[in-house]
Amino acid sequence: MTSRHLLSAAEISEASRSGMDTRSLKKRGHFGGASELVFGFLILVLIGSFMAADQLLGVPISGAKDIVHPDWLALAAIGGAGAILYLGLAVLALRNQVAKLKKKHKKVVAQFERDALTGALNRERFVTATKSVLEVRGRKRFAALFLVDIDHFKQVNDTHGHPIGDRVLCFFAQQLEASFPDGWVGRLGGDEFAVFVEHSDPITEAFAQKRCSEFVERLAQGLDIGTQRLMVSASVGIAMAPRHGKTWGALVANADMALYASKKNGRAQSTMYAEAMLTDVRNEKTLMRELRAAILLKHLRVAYQPIVGVNGDLVAYEALLRWHHSLRGVITPDVFIPIAERAGLISDVGCYVVRQVCEDLEKLPKVSVNVNISANQVAAPDLVDRLLGILSETGVDPCRIVLEVTESASLICSADNAKRLSALQAHGFRIALDDFGMGYSEFNQLRMLPFDIIKIDKSFVNSLGNDVVTDVFVSAVVEISRRSGKSVIAEGIETEEDRLRALAAGCDCLQGFYFGKPEFLEDSGIKLLSKATAGEEPSAGAVT
Ligand code: C2E
Ligand code: CA
Ligand code: CA
Repeated sequence: MTSRHLLSAAEISEASRSGMDTRSLKKRGHFGGASELVFGFLILVLIGSFMAADQLLGVPISGAKDIVHPDWLALAAIGGAGAILYLGLAVLALRNQVAKLKKKHKKVVAQFERDALTGALNRERFVTATKSVLEVRGRKRFAALFLVDIDHFKQVNDTHGHPIGDRVLCFFAQQLEASFPDGWVGRLGGDEFAVFVEHSDPITEAFAQKRCSEFVERLAQGLDIGTQRLMVSASVGIAMAPRHGKTWGALVANADMALYASKKNGRAQSTMYAEAMLTDVRNEKTLMRELRAAILLKHLRVAYQPIVGVNGDLVAYEALLRWHHSLRGVITPDVFIPIAERAGLISDVGCYVVRQVCEDLEKLPKVSVNVNISANQVAAPDLVDRLLGILSETGVDPCRIVLEVTESASLICSADNAKRLSALQAHGFRIALDDFGMGYSEFNQLRMLPFDIIKIDKSFVNSLGNDVVTDVFVSAVVEISRRSGKSVIAEGIETEEDRLRALAAGCDCLQGFYFGKPEFLEDSGIKLLSKATAGEEPSAGAVT
């Protein structure tokens, strides 16, 4: 079945649902010409009938009973013939009007069921159509629902502007239509699309995946924007009916879980729903609830890792969070920070760390402490107020705090985020760009964004001396940073060799297990404070 069949069957009901029923159309004069013709015809028939009755039946209906006129009969015949002619014309006009009306109806219906920008079915229409197919056809048919999200669409909009964003949306819709010619393509909102394919034979996973591959290949051609070619990709989640769900609700929930898996695994891919995902999601939901409780119950602990200068002197600490779960043991931030982000808890987690650090500061040597701030937290409009509030409550000077922000597309492309970082800098915080070289950074951004410190990622530091490109890259970062008054920290120093190479590359500060693992203040006590000399064995309290 194609979308064309669906539309014709639904036209009238759709129009009436949209309030565009025939009565309202009539009120607007669509029936005007036809009704005038019908009215004229009726009058003529009436006159003709009067005259014919007078003369033929001898019934004095006209009231001129004494006057006998020889031409009445002829006149009556002419009247009758005129009436028949009029009737013919009226029928023709009526048919014409009905055809026009149908055309208009189609247009109105199309407006109400299609997304104006992309021409895809709009959400309401797509959902209604899919629901009705699943309900009516039930087990006799097989279907697949594909949920499709454009990867990094916000970045496209932020970088290239909304007109290009609109072109990307249209490009997507066209590629979906071309890749799924037997399916309905719907735009569910923003950058979310969906495709519904129905068949009388079972749809295999191979078939669904093949269609997705075709779609991905079409996308890979990219689209021309001026002199540039813009490359775009999509994440897709697939669920099949009846295997993964028989109703719209079940199908969309499962396709959504599969879509989420595609995104989590690095985007630009399609994933078929599998039952194991349900367990993952339930686990994650449980973890989210438990994380919320852990913040309230203060079950998150801050570990401190030393950062040293070129001579091995302690210059700062990095605060690294650990979650002590009563049943699961220690959960590392790599696991729970993304969960906090998805649960909307990241600002609470971030403020928790800052408060804990501020409370610990008086027990630490008089060096600054680096605190990690997630890009999502930077995006929160109340970030500056919340941080300043905590510092003023605990009486801490912002110059003791360095905020480490990991480079990310959202951070780099948003003018608001850059403004927020500048505002924090103006209040005395220093800003470090974490994991430099791993993501979206370009040298240009080093100039444009307000960073005081660059942290070169462990992967680069560890390949210093083994890879010419890395050597050139690190030397260039160091050179640019030096010229613009920024300092460079080399992360992940594990050996004496790492240390020497980082120093040879010109890095100002070093951090890594070679100098000390992250430790809890309570465990290491004063040892943590006085240590941080090169090559010393980590104490028993060290946590990784
Ligand atoms: P990061 O900011 O790059 O932190 C450094 C990570 O590398 C830490 O892992 C640290 O334990 C580890 N590390 C340090 N030196 C070495 C070394 O010599 N060798 C090796 N193999 N690893 C080393 P951790 O603590 O598991 O943190 C992982 C990531 O979680 C952090 O990466 C940071 O992005 C994030 N994170 C940690 N704490 C917080 C927090 O409070 N808030 C936010 N938003 N993110 C946090
Ligand atoms: Ca960090
Ligand atoms: Ca890092």
